Formats: sequence, structure tokens, C-alpha cells
Amino acid sequence: MSRLVMKFGGTSVADLDRIRNVARHVKREVDAGHQVAVVVSAMAGKTNELVALCREASPMHDAREYDAIVASGEQVSAGLLAIVLQEMGVDARSWLGWQIAVTTDGSHGAARIADINGEKLLERLAMGQVAVVAGFQGVAPDNRITTLGRGGSDTSAVAIAAAIKADRCDIYTDVDGVYTTDPRIVPKARRLDRVAFEEMLEMASLGAKVLQVRSVELAMVHGVRTFVRSSFDDPDAPQIGVDNLPPGTLICDEDEIVEQQVVTGIAFSKDEAQISIRNVPDKPGVAASVFGPLSDANINVDMIVQNISPDGSTTDITFTVPETEYQRALNVLEATRAVLKFGSLEGATDVVKVSVIGIGMRSHAGIASMCFQGLAEKGINIRAITTSEIKISVLIDSAYTELAVRTLHSLYGLDE
Ligand code: ASP
Ligand code: MG
Repeated sequence: MSRLVMKFGGTSVADLDRIRNVARHVKREVDAGHQVAVVVSAMAGKTNELVALCREASPMHDAREYDAIVASGEQVSAGLLAIVLQEMGVDARSWLGWQIAVTTDGSHGAARIADINGEKLLERLAMGQVAVVAGFQGVAPDNRITTLGRGGSDTSAVAIAAAIKADRCDIYTDVDGVYTTDPRIVPKARRLDRVAFEEMLEMASLGAKVLQVRSVELAMVHGVRTFVRSSFDDPDAPQIGVDNLPPGTLICDEDEIVEQQVVTGIAFSKDEAQISIRNVPDKPGVAASVFGPLSDANINVDMIVQNISPDGSTTDITFTVPETEYQRALNVLEATRAVLKFGSLEGATDVVKVSVIGIGMRSHAGIASMCFQGLAEKGINIRAITTSEIKISVLIDSAYTELAVRTLHSLYGLDE
């Protein structure tokens, strides 16, 4: 017997037919003798609809009431799935965040989970009852409902799995796993059987959209083996993949990965903007006076390139911010012009960050130069570079996105 968390996203519970399909997946695991907690998202489109209603009611709406409203989508899908399971003869009960309780901090709209009490769920699971948990929601210290930020039910699922010490957290979604890159850009992209937590964290942070970044962080910290698979599989098809799992991707500790590739995947993110400050006086404290005000304004700076000035007098600083923060960042910097005494401020939003990811890089030399060489041969200019132990990111013109991703994908042997 195993203890499983099964998570179903919005498209998987989009209507009653699909909810019945979900229930068959759940019943299969129950019939196999497993203890099962299910975490559901709102029915597809529901959360957007509720967010729009809040905005329409008042553009400056109260964040606590926003949470009370948008959390309701998950309440509906959890209740519906419990009814459908009962109808199929499976003992099931729905659970809201506060009933468990999933305690969070007080940042309404983007709350972080502080603690989950697994006791009540474990009691029910031991009785053979399926717990159907409303994802995306928790309860703040002031006892009001919170939500975890868009896409947050992945995080709910992994956190519940950690709290009840589940053997695995199965994420059922509209794709059948994690790919070496986006198959819409590179048709030769392959599904990965296994990905290490660290790699998945980089992939999710750098643009792959399969899982919410926060959920991967939690999985890594708590060692929750997370399996991404398609909810559109026939629930009764024989389970014949790796480890007797159906087709999908297991996100796990690197020790569990036998055949480690040097490069695991190529990610890209178009949500980037580049800012360059030219002719800044080159003296101690300049970087602090550029990045201090940005951080005070809560703007996340990512890639940073600073030149050494040829004559020791002025230098250029280039960095990236999320595209949505571009204008705000320019305004913040413009306000420091009198103090910083820079020459000019320029920027671009038609840029993309392309990243090569793989834990094998730790023990292999030459991966970065191969990337630069490959892009150079295609005439692609690199505007900025950042690296870590397990990734190389380059900022390039967005017009070259597809060419760059395809080139790197085949260069590192990821094509089928
Ligand atoms: N329903 C929420 C959203 O659309 C949470 C989720 O689906 O993960 O953002
Ligand atoms: Mg999602």
C-alpha cells in the first residue's frame, strides 16, 4: 500500500464528464489499495472569471475579499468530485483550506504556506476515505481565507504530500510530462523520464510552464517525488512505463537518476526586458546606488553585466527585469539621475532569455563555450550571459528565439 496525492488542474476538471474521468483515475488507485488525497483546481476559466468580477466590482478591491471570491472556484470542483466519487461507490469527503488547516502568512492574493496539519486527513485516509482537497487556498493568521497566487494548486498538492508523508505526488495535467524543450517550438523535443529537483527548479524558473516554481521548491526541500502525467490517459489503461508508472516524468532526487545526461533541457522566457545605463561614474558604490532603489521598489533584477571602464572614469551597466516591470524600472532609475549622474538610459523589451540546463554540467567542461559557438555560427548575438553550476542563460533578440532553441536542442544531442 502506498499513500498518494493526486492533483488535477483546471482543464482536467473542466466539466462533469472530465470530473467523472478524474474520479475513475482516483478509483483505480483506491481499488489498488492505496490511501488517496486528491487536490483539485477550479474548473477551467473559473478563476479568471472570478478575478474579472472582482476588478469589475472595484479596481481597488480589498485583497481579503478578492481571496474570499477567487478561492470559491476550488470549493466547487472539490465538492463536485466528492459527489461523483460517492456516486461511484468510493467513500470521499471534500476539504477546504481552513478545515485541514492549511495555514499561510497574511499576504492575501499571494500567500505562502506556513504549516499544514496532516492529522485530520491522515485519520480519514486510514479509514479508507478519499480526501478531496480544494487547492490554491489556505487560512491567514487573522482567520481569513487566503489564496496562494495563480497556479497555486500545484503548490497545495506538493505541500499536502509533504504534510501527510505521501509516497508520491502525481500531477495530472494537460501534457504528458516534462519535455526537453517546448514541443511547439521544437517538434523533436522528447519527454524526459526523470528530472532532478534542481533541474526542474531551474526549468520552471527559466520559463517551462508545467509546474508552479514554488511547488518545485517545496518538492525539493521536502524530497516529495513528483510525477507529471496526462489526465487524458485512459484511467484503466495498463500501467507499464518506468517503475510501473504510465508515460510521464518523475521529478526526484538525482540519486534516482541512473543515466544522467549532461544537458537535460533548453528553457526560454520571453517575459524579459533589458535596461542599459551608459556612462555611469566608475567608483565604489555605483552598483549599490543603481540596484538599491530597484530593490526598494520590489523590482527583481536578474542578469547583470558591468564593464570595466577603459579609462577608469565611466562604465556601462546592463541588466534584465521582468517585462511587466520595465516601465516602472525606468521610472525608478530616471529619478536617480541627479545622484547617479549617468549619461543615458536605454532598454529593450524584444529580448528573450534562453537557458541550457543540466546537473551533468557540474562535472563537464566546455558546455558554455559550445553554446556560445553554436549561437555564433547562426549569427545570433548575445546581449548578456549568466551562469550557475547547472545552467547557462543568454539574452538574445526575441526574433531569434526559435532558431536559438532549435540550435541548442540539437547541439546538445537532445533531438530524438
Ligand atoms: N485556480 C487557480 C488558478 O487558476 C489555481 C490553479 O489552477 O492552480 O490560478
Ligand atoms: Mg496549473
